[in-house]
Parts: sequence; structure tokens; C-alpha cells
Amino acid sequence: MKVRVNPDRCVGNGICEAVAPELFIVEDDGQARLLVDDIPAAQHELATEAVQSCPAQALDILDTERRP
Ligand code: SF4
Repeated sequence: MKVRVNPDRCVGNGICEAVAPELFIVEDDGQARLLVDDIPAAQHELATEAVQSCPAQALDILDTERRP
């Protein structure tokens, strides 16, 4: 599973980082970044929660494949 930050929408409010600090960080430029390229299965639920929590709808799930 991969998540992309849309830099045109991200407002840097840090909600994704608060929800999933092991997956997201808001950099000094005010943009959220992914800390991992491919989110492991154990963190898919958390990543999805972070995506749904973004009030700017700046996070997109690119790959919903679930591995066994
Ligand atoms: S919650 Fe959304 S708008 Fe806020 S920092 Fe994360 S990606 Fe950006």
C-alpha cells in the first residue's frame, strides 16, 4: 500500500502525523511526507485512518493491494 501527499492540497496542519507518527512527518516547508515508501500490511488500517483524517483531502491511497 502506498500513500501520496498532494502538495497542492496539503496545508501542513499535521493531523496525519498526529494520527500516524510512524508513517507521516510534516517537514519545515509545511508539507507532509511519507516516512516509508511501501506501508506494511500491519499499518494499512492506521494509514487509511490518517488519509481519512486529512481535512484537506491531500492524501491519496495509490495501491490498495493487501498481501496475505
Ligand atoms: S493532514 Fe493532510 S493537510 Fe494536514 S499535514 Fe497531513 S496531508 Fe497535509
